[in-house]
Amino acid sequence: MDNLARLAKPSTFTCPECHGTLWEIQDLRPQRFRCHTGHAYTAASLVTLQDDKVEDAVWSAMRALHEREMLLRTMAEEALLHKHVELAAEYTAQAGKAHEDAEVLRRLMTHKTSGHQK
Ligand SMILES: [Zn+2]
Repeated sequence: MDNLARLAKPSTFTCPECHGTLWEIQDLRPQRFRCHTGHAYTAASLVTLQDDKVEDAVWSAMRALHEREMLLRTMAEEALLHKHVELAAEYTAQAGKAHEDAEVLRRLMTHKTSGHQK
């Protein structure tokens, strides 16, 4: 650890694998990073891993929005069954909003992956 502190300075980045602070090795080009656990990255490998992390986050946000939409539509039907028309309309509007948000993310991902095939 002392060794790391001598050779490197703490960066603003976190290790994609253990979420510890990444230390930037000083005076090295291309930039290299290490965490206390021993994971090591070049700037390029870090960028790739961050990209994967962003993609995973977007996909999980899309799944959450889809579930939210489904749940709200069920709640709307339930409300209609009990003649709560305004409540049903409110749920339906929220479901529509969740659908739109998911669409925005889907377009973002389509745009993103069209650049580099995976
Ligand atoms: Zn690590």
